[in-house]
Amino acid sequence: MKFYKDHYDVIVIGGALAGLSSALMLADKGLDVLVLERHNLPGGIATSFVRGGIEIEASLHEMMSIGEKDNRLKVGKFLDDMGVDIDWLKVPEAYHASLPGIEITMHPGFETYAREVDSVVPGSYDKVLKVLNLCHTVFDSVNELSIHPMSKPMMLLKHEAFVKTAGYSTKEVLDSFDLPQKARDLLSCYWIYVGTGFEELPFTIFSVLMADYVGYGSFIPHKLSHEMSLKMAERAEEMGVQIEYRQHVEKILVRDGKVYGVRTARGDEIMSDYVISAAYPNKVYTSMIEPLSEVPPQAIKMVNGRRVSLTAFSVILILDKEAEELGIKDYSIFHGTTMDTDEIYRNFKGLGPYKYTTCICHNLGNPDATPPGTCSFSITVLPQVDAWKEVKAEDYDRIKHEIAKQLIDEMSEYLGVDLLDHVLEIVIETPVTVSHYTGMWNGSIYGYAHTMEDHIVARLQTAEAEKFIEGLEFAGAHQISGDGMGPAVTNGRKAAKNVLDDIRKKKEAAAK
Ligand SMILES: Cc1cc2nc3c(=O)[nH]c(=O)nc-3n(C[C@H](O)[C@H](O)[C@H](O)COP(=O)(O)OP(=O)(O)OC[C@H]3O[C@@H](n4cnc5c(N)ncnc54)[C@H](O)[C@@H]3O)c2cc1C
Repeated sequence: MKFYKDHYDVIVIGGALAGLSSALMLADKGLDVLVLERHNLPGGIATSFVRGGIEIEASLHEMMSIGEKDNRLKVGKFLDDMGVDIDWLKVPEAYHASLPGIEITMHPGFETYAREVDSVVPGSYDKVLKVLNLCHTVFDSVNELSIHPMSKPMMLLKHEAFVKTAGYSTKEVLDSFDLPQKARDLLSCYWIYVGTGFEELPFTIFSVLMADYVGYGSFIPHKLSHEMSLKMAERAEEMGVQIEYRQHVEKILVRDGKVYGVRTARGDEIMSDYVISAAYPNKVYTSMIEPLSEVPPQAIKMVNGRRVSLTAFSVILILDKEAEELGIKDYSIFHGTTMDTDEIYRNFKGLGPYKYTTCICHNLGNPDATPPGTCSFSITVLPQVDAWKEVKAEDYDRIKHEIAKQLIDEMSEYLGVDLLDHVLEIVIETPVTVSHYTGMWNGSIYGYAHTMEDHIVARLQTAEAEKFIEGLEFAGAHQISGDGMGPAVTNGRKAAKNVLDDIRKKKEAAAK
């Protein structure tokens, strides 16, 4: 029996969240889809692994855009609609902020959150609520406009707040509210999930981040992030998608400016008029298109013009006591020696010591995360990719252990307990781990940086002009919606929509 069919409607390179979302949506519309994944399991970064008999979450802190069962946000709704049945758990708090002069646990819900800020900075309630309400209005506009694009005059009429703030950075808009510094610090904690300092971060992105996480809370799958990957893959196969693991796509075959298939490392040439790639455009346009002469110079200019965003360094500890016994009280802790996001961003350019960490104790959101009597605690920083490109092979181990030690010592001091005395398992993930595992460009986890020059609104406007090869689409953190697992799902859906729109247009043209 032949392993592959003679032709597929669409080939998806990469069976992680973005690629599987594309596959689900295309299969739902009746297309014949092949997913090629180089690992022996789906999910990419959304995965787990086993050490000492304990399954350990590899990455997920929290998912955005899920929402409660009766009030789903776009990612939760898409997964429900596709029949991907995930056992979501709501994270109990927003976060615990441990910043200079601040120790407080914040909770989701705009009014609750504003009240909690007010308890630290009396008198700030009204202003904070005003900021959050503005974020919510912009968030609603972004969601509507991403489905129903409209002319600029109509936009101004119906989405005034969105249009008026779209050209401003987060710093500029927050400055206009004249908030006391501590209130501003508390509103800044989530910045690490988008990874650009506020001088450069468009207010639109900040709005989406705050409205989603603070307004609706965050969620985690009961069986760790791999539950999402496994259930999406399982459902895609039920819907007729062919998923082949251990298949590394080396080349995307192009003729006369148009995709006609892919070649795997095993040498199979598989035909399709559409390819959706999880691999970064940087990699595709510099080494995967065959022949490379089919890559137009504008494609190289485009990738050179974009700044690859942050990568991750994470120490994951499995500890021999329950969280409470170790003084860990919160699911999520943002711990910083400053809350100046631009200073932290510059600090992430180096190899430490780092000034801002995000820590997660999964057991406090999911009692089943590790066996009774133990808990997991991860400490993560998000360095810029350039920092790690310069690390030499002979220095790698030393640098990795030095940074891990710094992070563990810092959090031990904060918690008042020597975490190293309680370690059952310890795993250190570096940007090199991420890069090796996913093949992502320089270990980037967040795609291209959101900046005032390159953000969702601008990307929507340049998207057509950036289709350099007919039939080639991209799905991953490197696409319009940007970083994170939720946006990866949205990016995957957008790639599928582009394919479906193109097929429809071609059919309409042929019928004329
Ligand atoms: C430590 C850490 C913590 C994180 N925490 C969060 C969080 O709390 N919330 C959140 O939303 N996000 C978080 N992220 C980021 C998030 O994991 C990523 O943005 C997201 O998972 C990216 O998904 P993706 O589908 O774009 O690609 P990836 O997960 O990068 O997967 C790409 C897939 O494509 C496959 N592939 C690539 N090239 C080829 C090829 N040539 N042939 C075949 N297969 C190929 C890879 O094997 C992989 O399976 C975190 C990341 C890390 C590292």
